[in-house]
Amino acid sequence: MAHLRGTDRSQLLLLPEAVDDYVGPENPVRFVEAFVDELDLAAMGFTRTAAKATGRPGYHPADLLKLYIYGYLNRVRSSRRLEAETQRNIEVIWLLRHLKPDFKTIADFRRDNRVAFKPVFRQFVLLCRQLNLFGRELLAVDGTRIKAVNNKTRNFTRTSLAKFIREADEKLASYMTRLDEGDADEAQAGGGGKVGLAEKIAAIRGKRARHKALLDELERTGEDQISLTDPDARAMANMTKIGVGYNIQLAVDVKHKLIAEQEVSNQVLDLGLLAPTAAAAMEALGVETIAAVADRGYFKIEDIEACEKAGITAYVPKPIRGSAAREGFFIKEKFRYDADKDVYVCPGAATLAPLYEAKVRDNRKVDYCNRKACGGCALKPRCTANSYRRVSRLDNEAVMDGMATRLAARPEVMDLRRETVEHPFGTIKQWMNQGAFLMRRLENVRGEFSLTALAYNIRRAITVVGVHGLIAAARV
Ligand code: SF4
Repeated sequence: MAHLRGTDRSQLLLLPEAVDDYVGPENPVRFVEAFVDELDLAAMGFTRTAAKATGRPGYHPADLLKLYIYGYLNRVRSSRRLEAETQRNIEVIWLLRHLKPDFKTIADFRRDNRVAFKPVFRQFVLLCRQLNLFGRELLAVDGTRIKAVNNKTRNFTRTSLAKFIREADEKLASYMTRLDEGDADEAQAGGGGKVGLAEKIAAIRGKRARHKALLDELERTGEDQISLTDPDARAMANMTKIGVGYNIQLAVDVKHKLIAEQEVSNQVLDLGLLAPTAAAAMEALGVETIAAVADRGYFKIEDIEACEKAGITAYVPKPIRGSAAREGFFIKEKFRYDADKDVYVCPGAATLAPLYEAKVRDNRKVDYCNRKACGGCALKPRCTANSYRRVSRLDNEAVMDGMATRLAARPEVMDLRRETVEHPFGTIKQWMNQGAFLMRRLENVRGEFSLTALAYNIRRAITVVGVHGLIAAARV
């Protein structure tokens, strides 16, 4: 039996196929078209929404936005690759109606409209709200690091710069000594041979001067580190590795694992980012109160207080830290606070009363102890190396006690957090292959990530309601 064969390429057809025939009714590009066509691009801050009266006609921002959304949905983010897709990809040819912008036009559009991509992301969140895709009860908040356009070798901290300068000084001193000794030897031998050493000294002096200039820059700006390729990127830990990148914060609604809010920062730690991220998500979801769960990296008393004030019920487990935990003694959680009597009850059932008071930042810190009970306690070797144990309490610590009680009553919320946030992070980094930024500087990277988060949400929403459902909602 013969193989299947295609049709003759030079065959003329009586009724030629239309480009539209190649794009099925469930093709996501049909939603991209419907969604972008309904956006008020001028209000969102896009440039060139009105054509110029004179000069060569330009591309409408809607067409370039469609191209970028298509690209981010399909792992094609570079402007050169997007240009190639406009020539050969039937979906893109359909979407752009045969328009073929060059890579520079495509790249300039992303750079010039970087701040307008977040409103587009927010508009899709609104569309998902219309479709009731958000539960609007519980958010999982987490952060991840995405690599910046900056190699580790082009990032310097104060410590690394000071170390380099110190080692350079030591090397210079050693070379200078060898040079002096060489001078004496040569005087005796009457020959050359110190040229190589002089070159090495000049090279080290040059490097030292460059590192000193960077250290001076850090002193002037008060920053802790400096990145040479992308000045806004920071060295930060990603699991066990350190890389130079940005800190991506997501607030993910647990109902369908859709991203309610996203923000990119260059803050190295997550501490202090729970309240701002969850509050922005509340605004996007249009709710007055919500619960938010995050991991131990967000445990900061001021941040939890800010959550309570904003109507956010926080669930953050307390990290095991402090000198008692380090030295293997009873951790503070083994001591029960009795709010009515204002005392702690220790693991030996003794009552620790408030005795010492101090100021920590803006808070009052009280130390509780019971010297007499500790003196004759059989558990003392497991409790303290001192003559008695002190337990400290800040005056705003009640907020943390309330949170610990909530967490104890709802332990499954931590598993729910992990399952919820791992989905977007895993999808973005692995399936969408967007584990590194293409652009430099914080504002550009924010625009880039808004497109990434939008593409993730579109894929997720298509899985839940289908292309037809989304198109119908977009056109309401
Ligand atoms: S050492 Fe003091 S604080 Fe610790 S268990 Fe004994 S009595 Fe309680």
